[in-house]
Amino acid sequence: MKAHQALQKYFGYSEFRDGQETLINAILEGKDALGIMPTGGGKSLCYQIPALLLPHITLVISPLISLMKDQVDSLSEIGISATFINSTLDEETLRERLIGIRENRFKIIYIAPERLNTYSIRNLFSAVPISFIAVDEAHCISKWGHDFRPAYGEIVDFVYQLPYRPPIGAYTATATLDVIDEIKQLLHLQAPIESIISFDRKNLTFEVLKVSDKRQYIVDFIKRFYPKDAGIIYCATRKSVETLTEFLQKSGFNALSYHGGMLSDDREANQNAFIFDKTQIIVATNAFGMGIDKSNVRFVIHYNMPQNMEAYYQEAGRAGRDGDPAHCLLMYSPRDISNQKYLIENNEFLVDPERKTILYQNLQSLIDYCHSEECLRADILRYFSEVPSFESCDNCGNCTNTTPKINITIEAQKILSCVYRVEQNYGLTTVIQVLRGSKNQQILERNLDKVSTYGIMSNYSDRAIREMIMTLIARGYLYQTPDARPILKLKNEAKAILKGEKQLFHRQDLIVHREVSNPESHYRAPFYEPLRELRLELARERDVPAYAIFTDATLREIAELKPKTPGAFLNIKGVGMKKLDQYGAIFIDKIKELEAIMG
Ligand code: ADP
Repeated sequence: MKAHQALQKYFGYSEFRDGQETLINAILEGKDALGIMPTGGGKSLCYQIPALLLPHITLVISPLISLMKDQVDSLSEIGISATFINSTLDEETLRERLIGIRENRFKIIYIAPERLNTYSIRNLFSAVPISFIAVDEAHCISKWGHDFRPAYGEIVDFVYQLPYRPPIGAYTATATLDVIDEIKQLLHLQAPIESIISFDRKNLTFEVLKVSDKRQYIVDFIKRFYPKDAGIIYCATRKSVETLTEFLQKSGFNALSYHGGMLSDDREANQNAFIFDKTQIIVATNAFGMGIDKSNVRFVIHYNMPQNMEAYYQEAGRAGRDGDPAHCLLMYSPRDISNQKYLIENNEFLVDPERKTILYQNLQSLIDYCHSEECLRADILRYFSEVPSFESCDNCGNCTNTTPKINITIEAQKILSCVYRVEQNYGLTTVIQVLRGSKNQQILERNLDKVSTYGIMSNYSDRAIREMIMTLIARGYLYQTPDARPILKLKNEAKAILKGEKQLFHRQDLIVHREVSNPESHYRAPFYEPLRELRLELARERDVPAYAIFTDATLREIAELKPKTPGAFLNIKGVGMKKLDQYGAIFIDKIKELEAIMG
């Protein structure tokens, strides 16, 4: 069987996505592979298809113990025999599985990195041949990354003691060049075939919001756009996770919490409730989500700004993995910045000053994103060193915003002059106080009331000036030194504004409640709801997540095309032979029944 046939037969897809074929062929030809794809890009197929086609076992090294069962279940749903080995197994189950592996009963074994160098595993694989080793979430090997997992360092030891070295494939969604280099070096990849796919996610609507009542906005937003769809809300602290969950529950939503301070059983139960569509919303800290492959998450809201663009994009990227439209809202308030700085300053593991500077710079990039007036999707791509092929995506919060812009060149000149007059020696708060003519004791003691720009913006609110300064930073006229108490400095580009050679414009609606308008993408065919109910029923019976039966995208296509024969059903994207066998008749019956009722 060829890769393409396997794609059709098992997964029900007729075409590979970008990068998949290159990575699959590399492994089939016995070469190493390195796949960098955005979340939802389809990494799993890149190792599952070679696993199917190669003669012996494939080991998938994964850090995500809690999800292994899920992944194995999803594979068996499409007729691929798989199992997993991690610390959750008792002795007896482990022994049975090892026997099963020896007897060649499984094609794919998911394994936690910590288990690789245990006696029983080493012993087993000294006799049982391995065709291919896939390293999932390969960025966990990076010490500097946010998901560092020390046991990833042991993968090479394991490989070297095997009777021979199988091809190794490494896959991740984290794409900074430093991390890519580290992965290649630390895994000792040998001339890997690389595929780095664009980070562009066309189906995601990005938006940055500065609203005064975040909680109410969330309630209105979900009620209006996603009353029944799954969503994740990320908060910066455990406390805010709990209070927001409570608020949502009181507002009538099915919401649960997830954070590191909960008992692990409770955490797991809540995570499963979310994966299995038993709860609509999960409110979580960043402890939640690595590797969550629930494909039908329709919105990811950041209640607070996270610490950098990589973390943001990875978390937001959990929306819309099935390719259907989804929303990523970042709710931003200036307080988030001080909270993030506090975290950097109080991180006891952070002793290297150079590293600290990097963290401050990374934070600044995300702050700049929050103040950007350009296309947000293009901004993200540029951050990941891509050159976007479009200027406007016509879909993000900035591209669809029609609020008039006002000329703020004079205000900008006043601000820049003030930074100059205080000799580029002070931070944001002081500069604002000087501009507003504050009588604060420190201002008076330092004689800052004597500078010529003192009080020249007394008719502006603190918040408005802050917003304008942030905009000047985001657009590269000012910068903040990367410290806990950053100082504002002028950049060369500021001269053009000061001399009046350049004009500056800013959106008027700095802090207003704004509604998102994107109604077409929320259209659902009339059969969608009843078919979704059917999917949920089947999922409950089988104790698998609903999306493991059909993804939202597949379900949508079924609802639109209403296939009434097995052949037509098989033509639906996401329906392979096994799914046709298992669910074809049930869904076809339901469609006929619905047509009889609804016409
Ligand atoms: P990730 O890269 O985040 O691990 P997954 O492997 O979970 O992404 O894939 C995301 C979704 O895309 C899944 O629902 C998967 O079935 C789907 N998918 C993967 N490859 C294809 C393809 N060639 N055609 C259509 N859908 C695909």
